[in-house]
Amino acid sequence: MKCEIVKALLENQIAVYAVKTDSLVNSAIKKHNLSPVAAAALGRMLTVTALMGASLKNTSDYLTATLKGDGELGSLVCCADGRGLVKGYVDNPNVGHEIKDDGHLNVGLAVGKNGTLTVIKNIGLKTPYVGTSKLVSGEIAEDFAQYFVVSEQQPCSVALGVKLQKGKCISAGGVIVQVLPNCDPALLFDVETVCYAMDEISYQFESQDAKQVIERFFSQLGHLEFEPSRYCSYRCDCTTRRIERLILTLGLEDALDVVEKIGYLEVGCHFCGKKYRYDKDQIIELFQNAKK
Ligand SMILES: [Zn+2]
Repeated sequence: MKCEIVKALLENQIAVYAVKTDSLVNSAIKKHNLSPVAAAALGRMLTVTALMGASLKNTSDYLTATLKGDGELGSLVCCADGRGLVKGYVDNPNVGHEIKDDGHLNVGLAVGKNGTLTVIKNIGLKTPYVGTSKLVSGEIAEDFAQYFVVSEQQPCSVALGVKLQKGKCISAGGVIVQVLPNCDPALLFDVETVCYAMDEISYQFESQDAKQVIERFFSQLGHLEFEPSRYCSYRCDCTTRRIERLILTLGLEDALDVVEKIGYLEVGCHFCGKKYRYDKDQIIELFQNAKK
């Protein structure tokens, strides 16, 4: 199932991106067997990464976001590319949860509010773009909003929501609102008021698609110009070649050491769980071919 990423310009002064991501989040839950709080955290991060991916211009462009807090979940890593691929993982997918006073899962506690968010963008330049910011709350949306301001000098509002029931995601989605240069202060004030009201965003995506959510919040503020939609889905692009390059970095001696101990060398892909297994002869052949 593909998720539609909708972009609209409000009065040519504000860019709004929205995506409904229940299928993306359910793919991640299935692949990684996520606990509820891990599903909420990774789901939010996959959603914002998908939205960021929609601004990549070339199909070969690639971005990786790593959010590392001091909570039990460990690191969350999500990637998106210019073709609509989105994937991610969390270090500890089985973390138990605490419920906040408002009835929500305590994502901020599980992620941890002390840490950093780093985004690496490979957009065809000689060196990749790397931006880092400190976490604000570990609730993901605020952390990314802070990142946009600090690292990309882009004032932004980010709303992300994942609603779960019996281990499944029943509604998820996100909205990014970007203030373009020369935005009229009066319009900005109205937009800020609207953004403030978007905190229960998963409820909006329960009964509406991305375009309807944008219309509902922003059509009252001025003219909305919709751009052609883009689509994304949970996929992994791991290949034998990439895994073999990883094994080569181990060195022959260490690789054979592992084979000696357990009979084979197995490398699992963090993102999709696929296992790549090599026996002794294959390892030797791999290193011999690499020398050529
Ligand atoms: Zn993979």
